[in-house]
Amino acid sequence: MFTLVYEFKLKPTNAQIATFEEWLEQCRKVYNYALCERKHWVNSRKCPVNACSIKSEYIIPANQPAPTYNSQCENLTQAKKNIPALKQVHSQVLQNLQWKVDVPFDKLPSTSLRASPEISPTGTSLGIDVGLMHFAAVSNGQTFPNPRPFKRLESKLKSLQKKVSNKRFGSNNRAKAQAKVSRLHERIANTRKNYHWELAHNLCDWADMIFAEQLNLKGLARGMLSKSCLDAGWGQFLDILSQCCFKRGVYFQKVPAAGTSQTCPKCLKETGRKKLSQRVHKCQYCGYECDRDVAAAQVVELRGLEAVGHTVVKLSEGKGSILEDVKLCLPVTEESPRL
Ligand SMILES: [Zn+2]
Repeated sequence: MFTLVYEFKLKPTNAQIATFEEWLEQCRKVYNYALCERKHWVNSRKCPVNACSIKSEYIIPANQPAPTYNSQCENLTQAKKNIPALKQVHSQVLQNLQWKVDVPFDKLPSTSLRASPEISPTGTSLGIDVGLMHFAAVSNGQTFPNPRPFKRLESKLKSLQKKVSNKRFGSNNRAKAQAKVSRLHERIANTRKNYHWELAHNLCDWADMIFAEQLNLKGLARGMLSKSCLDAGWGQFLDILSQCCFKRGVYFQKVPAAGTSQTCPKCLKETGRKKLSQRVHKCQYCGYECDRDVAAAQVVELRGLEAVGHTVVKLSEGKGSILEDVKLCLPVTEESPRL
């Protein structure tokens, strides 16, 4: 199964833009009117019998029924006769607005709301560690390269930006050069987002539970490696991953990140700080050896399993690889719902 999200960019003419703006304006008015009507009605019913405000109260007759989706739609039909501007907008669009106002007031017919499925933490699990060397390392030993779209296109961006600054301020050519810069920025952002979605789907193919670190993104972005951190866009990736997991019915949870690279996933002992250049985790206690990011991902996975209440068999007590051991202690795999 492959579900990808497509985004299309409209390129409307000026006349079309004007029409869209006009529609939006009418929608805004209709929405605000409907919301206001509801709020007034609610406020008119709020005043306690023995304590009216000295200043003012909303007064709506006691026998007037509360505004509903149907009554507001009827009012809209009436209003269209008097306000021709409303007719420009497709009637279904305006009705949808009334519906949107209706939702928070909890008057929806039960069929319209679909309850979100409860995803239970069972089945195969994965831990993920995001880093600079690899964009993501997975506890099953896989690593994904960092695409660094920004770095690749950075020199191109620089030369384009230089061209902008060389052009006369306010000139047509400057505007054209600026447009090229914007397009490149957009391209970089799209490349990144696309990669994040692909990776997220890929991970969902592998597991029923995914655990990731709770990153201190603000702290990272301020640090020495800030540019690379922002370029990698981990925050966006984790957001996309959680969305993707929700859609695919995969359990997703973040776990504390502190010290994931200083713990041995096999014997769970502190192994001390690693230098950034030290790419391999080698435990001085049990001799476990693997890629440092993969080891961190395995620690994340163990923490996640612990957090959702699975007893984790210490790897030192079993033989084979970490994944086999972890699977041993999991409950029977349940087919998780695929949406
Ligand atoms: Zn160890």
